[in-house]
Amino acid sequence: MAENSTITICLMAILFITRLASTLGKSRPWTGFLSPRLQTLHFARNLHLEPDAIKSVSSDYGNLVHENPAAVLYPSSIEDITSLIKFSYNNYTPFTVAARGHGHSVGGQAMASNGVVVDMMSLRHHKNGTGITVSKSPSLGFYADVGGEQLWIDVLHSTIEHGFAPVSWTDYLYLTVGGTLSNAGISGTTFRYGPQISNVYEMDVVTGKGEVVTCSSRSNSELFYAVLGGLGQFGIITRARIALEPAPKRVKWVRMLYSDFSAFTKDQELLISINGRKQKNALDYLEGSLLMVQGPPNNWRSSFFPSSHIPKIMSLVTQHAIIYCLEAAKYYDDETRHTVDKDLQQLFKGLSFVDGFMFEKDVSYVDFLNRVRSGEEKLHSQGLWDVPHPWLNLFLPKSRISDFNKGVFHDIVLKRNITTGVVLFYPMNRQKWDDKMSAVIPDEDVFYTVGFLHSSGFDDWQAYDQQNKDILKFCDQAGIEIKQYLPLYNSYKEWINHFGSKWRRFRERKAQFDPKMMLSPGQRIFNDI
Ligand code: FAD
Repeated sequence: MAENSTITICLMAILFITRLASTLGKSRPWTGFLSPRLQTLHFARNLHLEPDAIKSVSSDYGNLVHENPAAVLYPSSIEDITSLIKFSYNNYTPFTVAARGHGHSVGGQAMASNGVVVDMMSLRHHKNGTGITVSKSPSLGFYADVGGEQLWIDVLHSTIEHGFAPVSWTDYLYLTVGGTLSNAGISGTTFRYGPQISNVYEMDVVTGKGEVVTCSSRSNSELFYAVLGGLGQFGIITRARIALEPAPKRVKWVRMLYSDFSAFTKDQELLISINGRKQKNALDYLEGSLLMVQGPPNNWRSSFFPSSHIPKIMSLVTQHAIIYCLEAAKYYDDETRHTVDKDLQQLFKGLSFVDGFMFEKDVSYVDFLNRVRSGEEKLHSQGLWDVPHPWLNLFLPKSRISDFNKGVFHDIVLKRNITTGVVLFYPMNRQKWDDKMSAVIPDEDVFYTVGFLHSSGFDDWQAYDQQNKDILKFCDQAGIEIKQYLPLYNSYKEWINHFGSKWRRFRERKAQFDPKMMLSPGQRIFNDI
């Protein structure tokens, strides 16, 4: 026994000395953090260390976290990515690797302090238009094979040329396919079509061992489900096969205002209860948002209300302090253009919005899906896009939304004297999500998403951050079992709590697909950066 422990201690000492020698003694470190041998590999010309390259990936849309990588890889092929990961995996001291899509995270999730950031968007320039292809198979019907680096706006434009389009969207389309599939990809289409992760047939993934694996629900299914909503922890998505349906031409887009929270949510829930994919009388999109005295009715997310209606809306908001806005859309085409209004009338019969406060628009399908872009361009032109974004996104169990309305909207948000930006609030159906996936949602058939999408100045973001903390604290104390969407946690314990019953599997999958814990360190689950 004593002999065994002496041997163990000796082995550990040898291991420690070898490791020390490899980090200190080996030929002079190239960047201080990466092995100089990287310079000799075939993709070395695509690795950049210049300050401009480092700076371009050391912040994100949130503008609150800043971490410098040691280098940035601008891959010209998938092979560049596999070689980089393999190199790190086989290195005595592996370095971390983060795929960066469009960097639209808000908490440093696509950063890799002292590691390598892979700028996925650079692949778009090397694919010569082959990054998105539309095909058909007898079993799947029409589908698109899309590079993980592609923006959803390009997926829309390319597929619509063939008369088809994906069915599940995010509100904003300048996000990459790999980035949203690593979270979930949600919007008003989720209640009916599921999140974007529920609309993927197959993926190519470069694992944390540098192996390229094609996976689907039938083949390498453990990796497939791990990666969907997997926060970049198990591999880099280089291709996703996305379900397509015939694209509609136009959209009836409606907003109704409510002064009563329970009437608002009752109507939202009624409308999402008609949710069959083939059910012709179902809505195609349902969201909701809050209009508050501290904020304007129109905002960057979409300026829907014409200026002639603003005074009457403002006076309703002033009267009630909070107004709830139900937003719905129904697609139509040549075949359904004569019936769409009747279908909507039928759907909206008996709803309890405030009399005279229903507004309607008729827009093209592409304009509807790309509705956030004009707000973005406006903010860009005013220098207000690249500001801090202390966002908080949550999923709430339906059974506790009234407590949340009172405890958060009324008792926290209304009482602060800070301008409220976009606040989203809408329900989804759990049955449209697959529990085998890594994404985490509340354990009730219907749950809500609430999004506090704040923009702040560089000197007052702390007030929003504090409000977010107070909201989380309130939920904790009131026993509201929220799940964060686009989660941001500071401790391992919080991650364990976040994943709940899924934690064990999540950890086992990490050990299987990224055993050296190299990938997406900016999520701060397995790496403290
Ligand atoms: P990044 O921020 O670059 O990366 C996010 C994470 O994914 C990182 O951990 C990164 O390492 C990992 N990752 C990136 N690419 C890959 C890949 N190919 N393979 C594996 N891992 C990868 N979300 C919604 O669901 N619905 C919305 O309506 C919505 N609207 C938004 C509007 C705006 C203005 C913004 C800024 C964000 C919005 N989001 C929305 C959130 C958005 O989906 C996430 O922040 C998403 O991660 C951003 O995609 P990205 O391409 O910028 O990813």
